[in-house]
Amino acid sequence: MSRRVTFIPGDGIGPEVAWAARRCLEATGVAFQWDERIAGEAAIARFQTPLPEETLQSIRDNRVAIKGPITTPIGKGFRSVNVALRKQLNLFACVRPCRTYAGVRAPVPQVDLIIVRENTEDLYAGIEFAAGEPRTRQLIAQLRDWSQQAIQEDAAISIKPISAAATERIVRFACEYALARGRKKVTAVHKANIMKCTDGLFMETARRVAGAYAGRLAFEDRLVDATCMQLLLRPGDFDVLVLPNLYGDILSDLCAGLIGGLGIAPGANIGEEAAVFEAVHGSAPKYAGQNKVNPTAMILSGVMLLRHIGEPEAADRLDGAVAAVLREGRDVTYDLKPDRNDPTAVGTKEMAAAIIERMKTVKVRVP
Ligand code: NAD
Repeated sequence: MSRRVTFIPGDGIGPEVAWAARRCLEATGVAFQWDERIAGEAAIARFQTPLPEETLQSIRDNRVAIKGPITTPIGKGFRSVNVALRKQLNLFACVRPCRTYAGVRAPVPQVDLIIVRENTEDLYAGIEFAAGEPRTRQLIAQLRDWSQQAIQEDAAISIKPISAAATERIVRFACEYALARGRKKVTAVHKANIMKCTDGLFMETARRVAGAYAGRLAFEDRLVDATCMQLLLRPGDFDVLVLPNLYGDILSDLCAGLIGGLGIAPGANIGEEAAVFEAVHGSAPKYAGQNKVNPTAMILSGVMLLRHIGEPEAADRLDGAVAAVLREGRDVTYDLKPDRNDPTAVGTKEMAAAIIERMKTVKVRVP
């Protein structure tokens, strides 16, 4: 029986990398039935909205989607489709594995960790008040009164909601995800020494939830600033990290850097009802349509998709083929060559084709 999956090409470099991943997924031999849908600027022209209901419904029906990146206009136009998608489908967990692949230049030798980021709350909730607006001034006056703190008259305000319920859900998810993948430790990351209410609640809740996993998983919590330094100095100390939304966003880019850049960092947004697989990187508009960028992050997001739908053997084979092509360093895009102007660099399609070819001979996952 074929597996129905929603396929959203995205924009910018999205379609190129999404199609590369789709071809690799098909080449595993797993039967897919693709339900192609649009979102972003292309959808506005056709549906007058960047996130049409029929795209959402397709994901709800199929429960699994793979999506190319989508451009968010800065400071104007629609709010991020990516954020809206996570909200509408309640994709509360963002999972970003960061693993070093031989052949990829990286600032530290060996990283193998998973970032689990809470997706629904925190400063990302989008509760913002623009500087100078009457209601912002009203809010400032109220906050001054309640907190007895000085706030500049011309300040803009962003609200940071953190709840016990959402924290409990994400920490439980991180612990279950860790156990399912044979991981040993979960680290909760926060800044509870300064944000005693919000991050304090995150820390206390994480400790409580993780307590139920004692004996099966080690648990610790750390301050976000110290964690950044330790990730660079001793990445081997970390296994699964669970973080509130904003720290999760920042640390997943940091960890993508630790393994050699955005071009090879995959991700997934997962909820009770659906999971959307996508690269960590964005739509890199300046490279759009050039068959130039690295498809690895999207292909590895496809590997995550295969594991999610219960196809571990196909996932291992695709992952092994990616690892082999990266290790050999021949059929790779410009960003993976020692010199970015190396004329032997191949294009997006050609790298995907090399991975597909390699899948025929690679049987097991190559670490
Ligand atoms: P970006 O990730 O698109 O690009 C930053 C730089 O990283 C690029 O200029 C390029 O040098 C490099 N890069 C990214 N992907 C690469 C790849 N596959 N291969 C080789 N090099 C790669 O980040 P940005 O420029 O900040 O964002 C561009 C747009 O993408 C924005 O509109 C942003 O909102 C959006 N975005 C979307 C998503 C998503 O759809 N999930 C995620 C992040 C950003």
